[in-house]
Amino acid sequence: MDRREAMLRELNMHPMWVRREQAVNTPEVNVVQPEAPALMPEVQGGDSLREFQLKNAGGALGSLAFPELKEKVRSCELCALRAGCTQTVFGVGNEQADWLFVGEAPGADEDATGEPFVGHAGRLLDNMLLAIKLKRSEVYIANVIKCRPPDDRHPHVNEVASCLPYLKRQIALIQPKIIVALGKTAASALLNTDATIASLRGRVHEYHGIPLIVSFHPAYLLRSPMEKAKSWQDLCLAMDTMKACASQQ
Ligand code: SF4
Repeated sequence: MDRREAMLRELNMHPMWVRREQAVNTPEVNVVQPEAPALMPEVQGGDSLREFQLKNAGGALGSLAFPELKEKVRSCELCALRAGCTQTVFGVGNEQADWLFVGEAPGADEDATGEPFVGHAGRLLDNMLLAIKLKRSEVYIANVIKCRPPDDRHPHVNEVASCLPYLKRQIALIQPKIIVALGKTAASALLNTDATIASLRGRVHEYHGIPLIVSFHPAYLLRSPMEKAKSWQDLCLAMDTMKACASQQ
């Protein structure tokens, strides 16, 4: 048994998660355009999330390189989450990575260490990366929200709107070849939609010309291990998409 097989077995992905090789050779990338803004939830004052983002983006981040952007996040107090967290969690990995993984927000372990996806969910993500022959140091990992929400609740719409410009600037600087949105908050924020994970999975979406795959958050997979098989399908779609994009260049 090779290392990858052992990893898949540990993740309960083996033997049922055997990848069909024909999908590798003839992948078809059907890009799904972002959903209409009309689907977005309303926030205070009746603004859609898109309107709220435009008002709050400020346009001031567009000239920032990584060091300045990190400092900007470190000193940010744009929303109330900063008051309740230990430190901001910017992101980690290769700043020229082809692969970008985006989660929701820091939890207790991330708040303590300053690094996204550590603890149980982080170890599962590392194992998922190894299953597709990637190391954490080869990809970039970030969250939509940089400060831990109280009691690890889901972030509010206005908090997402306040923090999303930082992630957008990170993406502009990294220029990844593919984005994997892990969970509904990441998918909703990047695709500007309120659609369910179930309806977004299994298709190739697009974020400003970058293919985007929607999958489950590793923390959800820990609570619902039967969904790991679907998560593996999503990773296979991401790998096929990368290969299809490379062959079209
Ligand atoms: S969550 Fe984002 S917007 Fe809110 S204070 Fe932290 S860095 Fe700033």
